[in-house]
Amino acid sequence: MKAVQLIAHGAPGQLQYGDVPDPVPGPDEAVVRVRACGLNRLDLWFEEGNLPIPLPLPRIPGCEISGEILALGKNVANWREGERVAVQSNLFCGHCEFCARGEESLCLNGELLGIQRNGGFAERVAVPASALVRLPGKVDFATAAALTLAGSTAMHMLTCRAQVRPGDWVLAIGGTSGVGSAAIQIARQLGARVISTGSTEAKRRFAAGLGARHVVDTSQADWPAEVRKITQKRGVDLVVEHVGGEVLGQCFTCLARGGTIVTCGATSGREVPLKLWPFFVKEQKLVGSYGRNRKDIIAILDWAAEGKIKPVIHKVYPLSGTGEACAALRQRAVMGKAVIEP
Ligand SMILES: [Zn+2]
Repeated sequence: MKAVQLIAHGAPGQLQYGDVPDPVPGPDEAVVRVRACGLNRLDLWFEEGNLPIPLPLPRIPGCEISGEILALGKNVANWREGERVAVQSNLFCGHCEFCARGEESLCLNGELLGIQRNGGFAERVAVPASALVRLPGKVDFATAAALTLAGSTAMHMLTCRAQVRPGDWVLAIGGTSGVGSAAIQIARQLGARVISTGSTEAKRRFAAGLGARHVVDTSQADWPAEVRKITQKRGVDLVVEHVGGEVLGQCFTCLARGGTIVTCGATSGREVPLKLWPFFVKEQKLVGSYGRNRKDIIAILDWAAEGKIKPVIHKVYPLSGTGEACAALRQRAVMGKAVIEP
């Protein structure tokens, strides 16, 4: 089959397009014919070798997969060849204490698809059958590949790790990112008043088009003051954050008394100073969010089938264009999702 392998880390790393042996399903696995695979910030961290886990190469990246079942291992029941599926990228063991209570995001034996084993920038991929999720009939492959990781991450943040009440002010950082663009739509559906951020006029228009009531200009140093002004100095109830670094500190300036910041990423810095005095005086919360549970993927795909969320697909690339897609994401030129279609 054709596949893209990462053979050396770097920014850019060396991605090699070519022939590799077809995957064969293990006893508890399925081989999926990949129809679409979304590109994520995680792919760039992997490409750069910038993750705190061993990253042996070569490896086929790609962690946001949709396709059809091509072959099943001998122990796999409940699935048929030809079924349309999405694949949960945070692979889980199914028997640790956290998996037992449906919190696969906390699995003690978790593995990342497309990083710790071969992923979806290929014509075929072997995955544990436990990671398969049925695609609703109305959801096409590109939509699934744009929501299964990024959209479910936002769903996990907004409905599992934090709660949104109708009328709440929600600040969704980075409205053109995969997580940010989904967060705006999910928060709106939950009845929130949404503020987002964008560094260019085009990005701000994009976020407004998704339903953000206000979009503040993060190229202005005092953008948190703008958020406070919009909310009549009160601040927002919830911040959906995935940037880290200085931005996370600025988010506290935007936060109301009793408010929550939920964060799932650290693109611009993994260490942040925290001013403890206002934090406890205002009874604020900082909540971590990692990956997703199966129910978050089912929810986001159901919402897509019902028309409650629609990913914005920036561009569809052929498999041989994976390097070009990674470069576009690295240059922050992607609004919404880049999707690879092998
Ligand atoms: Zn587990």
